[in-house]
Amino acid sequence: MNENDLIYQFAKENVIQPSGLIALMMPQTFGAGIAIKAMDGRYKLVNRVMQSYFDKTFEQFTGLTDAELFPAEVAAQLVQSDAHILAGAATSSDQLDCLVAGRPLQCLWFKFPLLDRDGQLLFIGAAMLDTARMGDIDKMQQSLEQLQRDNQQLQQTLAELSKQARTDKLTGAWNRHRLEEAMVNEMDRLKRYDHPLSMVMLDIDFFKNINDLHGHLAGDQVLVKLTKVLQSNLRTIDTLTRWGGEEFVVLCPNTTLTTVTMLAERLRASVANTSFAQVGQVTISLGVAECMANETWEDWFKRADVALYRAKEGGRNQVQVAPEQTTGNDRRQAMTDRLLRLSWHATYECGHPVIDEQHRGLFADANQLFEAVLSMRPKAEVATLVNTLVAHVVQHFKDEEAIIRAAGYPGSAAHATIHSALADKAVALVKHFEADTLSVGELFQFLARDAVANHILGADRQFFAYLQPKLKGSSP
Ligand code: GH3
Ligand code: MG
Ligand code: MG
Repeated sequence: MNENDLIYQFAKENVIQPSGLIALMMPQTFGAGIAIKAMDGRYKLVNRVMQSYFDKTFEQFTGLTDAELFPAEVAAQLVQSDAHILAGAATSSDQLDCLVAGRPLQCLWFKFPLLDRDGQLLFIGAAMLDTARMGDIDKMQQSLEQLQRDNQQLQQTLAELSKQARTDKLTGAWNRHRLEEAMVNEMDRLKRYDHPLSMVMLDIDFFKNINDLHGHLAGDQVLVKLTKVLQSNLRTIDTLTRWGGEEFVVLCPNTTLTTVTMLAERLRASVANTSFAQVGQVTISLGVAECMANETWEDWFKRADVALYRAKEGGRNQVQVAPEQTTGNDRRQAMTDRLLRLSWHATYECGHPVIDEQHRGLFADANQLFEAVLSMRPKAEVATLVNTLVAHVVQHFKDEEAIIRAAGYPGSAAHATIHSALADKAVALVKHFEADTLSVGELFQFLARDAVANHILGADRQFFAYLQPKLKGSSP
């Protein structure tokens, strides 16, 4: 394999950026030695000039470190300048005066970074100029400085260009291409380390109407502002991609379905609460899905898309969760997901107007509390809703006990005992909540699941029969 083939191959594999290629072409102009080192300090590629100074073939050179090529103190100096490049320096240079391959060598040794398209350091480039052989040191120093400046500028331009190629022009969000690249890495991490990975797919509601009513330009401005609102609600690990038109994808590494659902709800609420210039209120529909361990990107994406479709069908301005559970290990999470909203059904009615109305009211209280928790309302606001719910629960227990006693339900005393235990637990938990020693999630689990859902839908059903016949005028 000759030098040109190698350079071509490295360039093709994106190892060498144009700046690196320019440096590699330098031998024609400067008679300079050129080398590329891996991050571990081993030489990967050297040109012929370099090979001749060290009396080594390309194959002999590859894999060597500075310690194997130079006297110890020079090697230490070079390791130092590598460290500068590794730490992010654009250039670094050393003046060397030593023996190599049994001959004296006086040279300038100049280093530069070779970056990938993300601006991440891939390799360290090195150029060597033999000062003894080239004579005019001042002139060479000038050329070197010029070269350093050019290289710096090139790296900057490259970083800028690669950023442009990977972001959406209108909104500055990632473009589809970039997401697809990032996705490969993230899915790899999921498979290797079992880190959870989730996505939100979202789409503006009735965007066509916005364009029709206010013009395409106003529509564009909505897209720009929407991007800002979404971004300001994301965590640093999340990335926003404009997937196309008025559709966006948020990639959420290290995030379970429960968390991504909360995040999506926060995004929905923020957008709905934002006033868009000219247009006023804009809403979005969102679908969330957690990536399953053995799922392809297409399947995962499809599930998020189906959830988004359900959000549209369900009336828009809402979050829908892709139903499939990712890891069978989390039954509790599945339960919480189902409890996102307590929906009232006619079958929950016992027929007694006071009890039914209070039960319905408790469902509504719990839903309101959950919504506040999901949209991360301030603690004081959540606390107010908690107190309301607890007060309603306590009042309801009192009323219900009186009603079932009067109805002759034989288990009424036992039922009152269950009530009092629930009420005691509620009061204790609220105290913990106020003292910040209880998570909102735990409090919610108790109020929504234990007190409201399980109790109303469980224990309470036992006395239903005693209430209905009386009202309907027949016996149990
Ligand atoms: P839905 O709630 O079902 O999503 O309704 P919709 O009107 O948002 O959906 P539809 O897919 O029918 O319309 C999308 C519109 O988005 C049509 C297209 O003209 C507009 N659009 C797509 N890209 C852009 C853009 O870059 N700028 C503007 N202003 N409009 C765009
Ligand atoms: Mg659409
Ligand atoms: Mg739309």
